[in-house]
Amino acid sequence: MKIPATPKVIIRNVSNYDPGVIRRVIREGLEELDLTPSGRTLVKPNCVASKPQFPFAFTRAEFLEGVVMALRDRAPTGMSELAIGERCGITVPTRYAFEGADYYPMFKRTGVKHYHFEEEPQVEIPLTHKERLRDYLFTPEPIAKADFFVNCPKFKSHPWTTVTFSLKNYIGIQDDRHRLIDHDHRLDEKIADLQYIIQPQFIAIDAIVAGEGRMLTPIPRDLKLVIMGNCQVAFDAVCANIIRVDPRTVDHIRMAHERGFGPLDLDKIQISGDVSLEEAQARAVGFKVGLIRVEKYFEGTAITAYAGPPPEPERTNYCWGGCPGAIEEAIEILRQFDSQCDARMKRTHVVFGAYEGPIPAGPDESVVFIGDCASWKGEIAGKLVSIENVYKHRRTKNPYTVKHDDIYAKMVTLAQRARKAKKEGVPLRLEGCPVSVAEQVLMLVFVSGLKNPILDPSSAVGFNKSYAEWRSKTLVDRVRGKAYQVHGPAERGEAAPEVGAAE
Ligand code: SF4
Repeated sequence: MKIPATPKVIIRNVSNYDPGVIRRVIREGLEELDLTPSGRTLVKPNCVASKPQFPFAFTRAEFLEGVVMALRDRAPTGMSELAIGERCGITVPTRYAFEGADYYPMFKRTGVKHYHFEEEPQVEIPLTHKERLRDYLFTPEPIAKADFFVNCPKFKSHPWTTVTFSLKNYIGIQDDRHRLIDHDHRLDEKIADLQYIIQPQFIAIDAIVAGEGRMLTPIPRDLKLVIMGNCQVAFDAVCANIIRVDPRTVDHIRMAHERGFGPLDLDKIQISGDVSLEEAQARAVGFKVGLIRVEKYFEGTAITAYAGPPPEPERTNYCWGGCPGAIEEAIEILRQFDSQCDARMKRTHVVFGAYEGPIPAGPDESVVFIGDCASWKGEIAGKLVSIENVYKHRRTKNPYTVKHDDIYAKMVTLAQRARKAKKEGVPLRLEGCPVSVAEQVLMLVFVSGLKNPILDPSSAVGFNKSYAEWRSKTLVDRVRGKAYQVHGPAERGEAAPEVGAAE
């Protein structure tokens, strides 16, 4: 892993999504950085979610078209493969996200190969650095085998990690079952650990229309910028400076810097391009970031949130990377599907972590304890309630044996449990660490009788078709003994290593 001695970040003005203009700007960036793609070349966008509900959440197809054409311009014969690969938001099929992002016509136009990472074999990557959360991680084979890696994130705020630029885009280099492990109060450390899997030779961020305030449903902000670089930490430091956030206050950027992935100080980074840092800052004045505690987020709505500390309270008193942030995204998804969502929402109390204060819920109001670490004792509407912490230490989570959740099975079980809790007048308990955005969407649907996005006519056909294609491909591959097995010790006929975190 070679980090450039003096990293470079290039800030360019690009006023719209003209693939021809983007191609020229990217080609000039590659030339300035003296980069020539070779071997297996892989481009990783941010396509966490797409249209029609999430039009500003993803790297645009026209942007990627410009990138792949520029890579070809630089190496017309030198690449053995040129591909785009991604794992979109948990539970949603990447096929569905690619469809909504108009990627398939672009794949056809450019002849570029594509990968849905959750449908690829997963490869074990050992970790040995001292701060690691665990001794190995899994990543899809196309990532593990890439010779020239291009990171193409979207310039956005994020409710769990303040921002999502290039380092954070790595959350999409794992399939769901591995991505959910450590996606909790130590999410920033997980992102820093993912950096050991691969480092990009080239980074180009789509900041033509950036996204402020949130991650799935950001407010569009015309920055009219394409920013390029050759070092993730330096790149994110410059992006953070553009929105006047000190990169040292963003934990995953600071940690990656402390682990040697690049400098944060601007005097150690060469900045060039036709837009100065000051001019870029002027375009981004007042850019809203996303870090808001859940209690504050729901103020003035039918939901009242209570959050106590997660496990390991000596590290943090709030789980920024897990369940509380997931419910903020969940409500935003429901608002996209139903403009009357807030008006229809019934009074609901949601509780996270080791909360110790009162829960003043009325007899007809729903109370939901969310996450394995939720615990509470007291009286709710005249009844004694005792919720035990069932958190399992990360050491007990084995990446070799974790399984994918089936969203339809979850939907049926959750509907039954919500009905039972309502009938018996007791709180609902959702277990998991974390409880995913999708599961919290379903929980809000069932406790309040809201529209279910998975069954909504605007998305149901496309979602179900993509889901069936994903599941049948992985089933066929498994029957053939071909793919979707985990490459690692089992394949080599060795015993799986002990699960253990280096703490
Ligand atoms: S259960 Fe949820 S809130 Fe608790 S540590 Fe895990 S992710 Fe965080």
